[in-house]
Formats: sequence, structure tokens, C-alpha cells
Amino acid sequence: MNTAEAVSYWRLGLIGGQLGHSLSPRLQRAALKDAGLQGEYRLYAVPPLPEGEAQLRALIEGLRAPQALRLHGLNVTIPHKQNVLPYLDELTPTARAVGAVNTLYACGSRLIGDNTDAEGFWLDFERLLAAAPPQKSTPTALVLGGGGAARAVAYTLLQQDWRVALATRRPEQGRRVARDLNTLRLPGRITAIPLEAESLAGWQAVCAVINATPVGMSPHTEDCPYPAEIPLPPQSVVYDLVYNPAETALLRRARQQGLPAANGLGMLVEQARLAFARWTGFTPSPERLWEALGRAHIPPPGGQA
Ligand code: NAP
Repeated sequence: MNTAEAVSYWRLGLIGGQLGHSLSPRLQRAALKDAGLQGEYRLYAVPPLPEGEAQLRALIEGLRAPQALRLHGLNVTIPHKQNVLPYLDELTPTARAVGAVNTLYACGSRLIGDNTDAEGFWLDFERLLAAAPPQKSTPTALVLGGGGAARAVAYTLLQQDWRVALATRRPEQGRRVARDLNTLRLPGRITAIPLEAESLAGWQAVCAVINATPVGMSPHTEDCPYPAEIPLPPQSVVYDLVYNPAETALLRRARQQGLPAANGLGMLVEQARLAFARWTGFTPSPERLWEALGRAHIPPPGGQA
């Protein structure tokens, strides 16, 4: 964290590939306003590696530049969440476990990489659970996908003593994630399974289905990551990390089956609040950030964001 007294103008920003539709500037500018801090949040579009390598390095080094030139905090998104790892001095335990970062800052001269997706997911997911608390002492979640977001989701669920079935289309990817996370000896355990109807049919007693793939994202809004041949587990809540469109095909199926469901907009808001707090020490109010997205209120528990 930077010391607020020493910073008169906060230079914050987002490193990523395609940033035109990012909601982060709206969220972080609202956070600056809520904190009463002067500053900016800029978009830094960096091409994929190797082309973007020098630009990526220069931006990250900007976090420990002399004060007048300095960047005070950066978010990182696709495709650079792992590309930045070699330039950092230290990863938080969450970032290390997830193997990807979304929040960068300097602590003295050391560059720190953090991952606020994991905690951001849990904070929003808890809201959904409040509407439909799991009936089991050790609940099980079915997580679809095996990339950075799936790792973050699985990590936080395992920390909370959930069991996780991780469904991936490439079995070796799922097995790798399961091995990495089980090695951490967290309270919960994770099992890798194929993302196929035949295998998912054996997981109908789970308490939650969580989509951590991009399937269903605009413009492919008719695509659903859960197989059409089988119903969604009847006792589950359904959480889709995708939030564009607001009601994905998966969430539509959940609604048709009468299951509590939410999209990932709440997670986006929570990870942004956590990142801003890491940089400035100030945690912005959720209401101000939702307002910045054009929504006056936090969505009701279990309701659509
Ligand atoms: P990623 O690292 O690229 O991983 C994507 C995962 O989805 C991979 O396992 C990939 O499998 C799988 N996948 C892709 N297309 C698939 C398909 N047609 N069928 C089955 N599996 C498929 O991406 P990520 O960073 O984990 O992000 C995943 C999604 O979460 C994105 O839509 C992202 O926008 C969203 N997200 C939302 C938030 C939020 O705040 N709401 C935060 C982070 C991420 P392969 O490796 O085989 O391609």
C-alpha cells in the first residue's frame, strides 16, 4: 500500500489487451471520488507477448519510479495476468496459489502482485448463498473451467472448506489445477472431472454450479457451458462469472429451473474495491461503485446483478 499522505495525485491504471469495453475505469474513478482523492485511472493497451514485452516491463517499473513519475497502482487483465509474474518481486499467498495477478503495487522498492478475484468472488457469492444456504456441512461446488478465474474461485472455495469438482474440457488442465491446489493443504479438497454430460450427471447433488469459462459471453449469448442433455443440479445456486449479457444462457436455464442465480458483476465490483484498498488504504463504498455502473442499489441477495 502507498501512504496516502505522500501522494497528492494518484496515478492508477489497467494493463490488458482489448480494453475498449472495460468497466474498471468507471469503477476506479468512482472509488477515487468516494475517497476524496485526486487522481486518474488510465487504460494501457499492451499487445500480446512478445510484441508487448518492453511496454509491459516499462509500465510495471513505473510502480517504483521516482514520485513525480510514479504509477501508484495497476490492475492487470487478459492476456497479461500471468505475463507480468517474472517482473514482480513478491506475490501474495493468494496470487501464488492462483498463479495469476490482477492487482500490482509497490511496497517500498518491492513490486507486489496480488489477486483480488478470489476474495472478490467469495464476497459476492456469499450474497447469493444468503438466499439459499447450503444444506450440507461440507458443501460441494461444481466449477466449470480451468483458467485463472477457475483457479481463483476454486482456491477461495477450498479455503472455506468446500469440496470442489472442477470440470474442464481438457482433462490434463483440470488435473494440473487440482494437483496444484490440493498440494496447498487447504481445508477443502478438489477433484478434476471432464466437462461432459456423462460425467456431470454424477454431480447432481452439488450446492453450487459456477461458470468460470467465457462461454456465453457477448456476442455468443446463446452458448451455455453446462450440457443441454442434463438438468442443472436441483439443489444448487448458479453463479456465472460472465456478466455481459446480464442474463447469460446459463442463468436463463437457472431461472427456468427456479434456482437462485447471479452473474459476475458483483464480483467485478468487489475485486475493484479490494484493489483500490490495496493501493490507497481506503475501501470505497459498494453503493458508489454500483451507481457508477448505472445501478442505484446493490442487487438483492440471490437476485440478478
Ligand atoms: P482463461 O484463463 O482464458 O480460462 C478460460 C477457461 O475456460 C479455460 O479453462 C478454457 O479452456 C475454458 N474454455 C474456454 N472456452 C471454452 C469452451 N467453449 N468450452 C469449455 N471450456 C472453455 O480465462 P479466465 O481469466 O479464467 O476468465 C474466464 C471468464 O471469467 C472470462 O469470461 C472472464 O471475463 C471472466 N472473469 C470474470 C471476472 C469478474 O469479476 N466477474 C473476473 C475474472 C474473470 P481451454 O484452456 O481449453 O481453452
